[in-house]
Amino acid sequence: MMQVDVAILGAGAAGMMAAIEAGRRGRRVLLIDHAKAAGEKIRISGGGRCNFTNLHIRPECFLSQNPRFALSALKRFTQWDFIARVDAAGIKWHEKTLGQLFCNGSSREILSMLLRELAEFGVTIWLETEIGSIRRRNGFQIETSRGIVSAASVIVATGGKSIPKMGATGFGYRVAESFGLPLVETRPGLVPLTLAEQVLEPLKPLSGTSVEGRASLGPVGFDEAILFTHRGISGPAILQISSYWREGDTLNLDLARGVDVAQGLREARQDAGRVQLRTALARFVPEKLARHLETVSTLTGNLADQNNARLDKLAALVHGYPITPVGSEGYRTAEVTLGGVSTDALDARTMQAKDVPGLFFVGEVVDVTGWLGGYNFQWAWSSGWAAGQVA
Ligand code: FAD
Repeated sequence: MMQVDVAILGAGAAGMMAAIEAGRRGRRVLLIDHAKAAGEKIRISGGGRCNFTNLHIRPECFLSQNPRFALSALKRFTQWDFIARVDAAGIKWHEKTLGQLFCNGSSREILSMLLRELAEFGVTIWLETEIGSIRRRNGFQIETSRGIVSAASVIVATGGKSIPKMGATGFGYRVAESFGLPLVETRPGLVPLTLAEQVLEPLKPLSGTSVEGRASLGPVGFDEAILFTHRGISGPAILQISSYWREGDTLNLDLARGVDVAQGLREARQDAGRVQLRTALARFVPEKLARHLETVSTLTGNLADQNNARLDKLAALVHGYPITPVGSEGYRTAEVTLGGVSTDALDARTMQAKDVPGLFFVGEVVDVTGWLGGYNFQWAWSSGWAAGQVA
């Protein structure tokens, strides 16, 4: 039987960080994963350049039933702490937009940095290892395809359900349940949204068209690109709002953010009243979208035929296009899983289960989900770090 101080289940971002920190403290650490390689999501993240953190980490960028839960870990191991490690490893990075930090080269540099640190602190890594049941017996006993592992502490870092093709299983939720920990219902987040056939039909010619816009739902809104696809809507603004959207909700899309379309149309009417509405609109939005908006507005005639009220109505449609998705593309393409192990059951400082000493949950398996833009990796680093200090 393999005996260790800390067994960490899942060698993703959170599990590797927890292993490094526990190893740094001199603990005997075993990191177990069923995948062929550690940190596969890091490797493919950010289009291969890993958006490893964000300069503007703040509470409102995280969704959870208890939005304040994440703060403790995020404050103790901050984006600046992670950036310092990246700098010390000689990895060059840049801010792409909105505080999002990416490697100049490749996400493999972040992965190599973590693997080097795991080796430095003598962490044992078992890959391609299946994990079975976990029982409490002199600490914990974990059944694996390589035999029983006995560990004083167990850190569950098996992530969410997103991208099953890459090894996501929902295993961590079952572990939590088996120890009586409450779960918050899970659903795909940061995911393209789909439209009903009758809504999609008139939008089909727009497939591939994108605009700099704003997607909002009540008080929450995101100023980023919106993309029309052959199945619905996507692009960063839609991925962001998808984490807030629920079945039945109607989104509001501003398709020409920052442009005063009403004023623009009035000026165009003065200058060239004979032009068609769609031609005038095409000064502000892509031509195909202008055509669609003209049809939806039901206005007929050219610009000179429209009074101010009609032009305002058209502009209001451009800035407040209502759309009601029917669903999402699901876990197949979702970047994250919303919900998970309830934060009520965990100590915010250590990530330890309040009622099961020695059992920890870190990263995406916990009911903490970040916005698009490096927030999810920062949560993985911070929560993994916090557990690694005490496990
Ligand atoms: P994971 O990274 O998912 O790691 C979980 C590990 O557990 C995996 O190695 C898995 O193989 C293992 N595992 C699961 N089940 C079992 C089991 N039953 N037995 C054994 N092992 C198991 N976030 C950002 O902040 N920036 C980005 O640029 C970014 N890009 C992304 C791109 C894509 C395509 C996707 C899908 C996600 C992206 N994310 C990004 C989100 C980010 O990858 C996750 O939030 C983060 O990886 C979560 O870390 P984690 O360690 O909790 O889980």
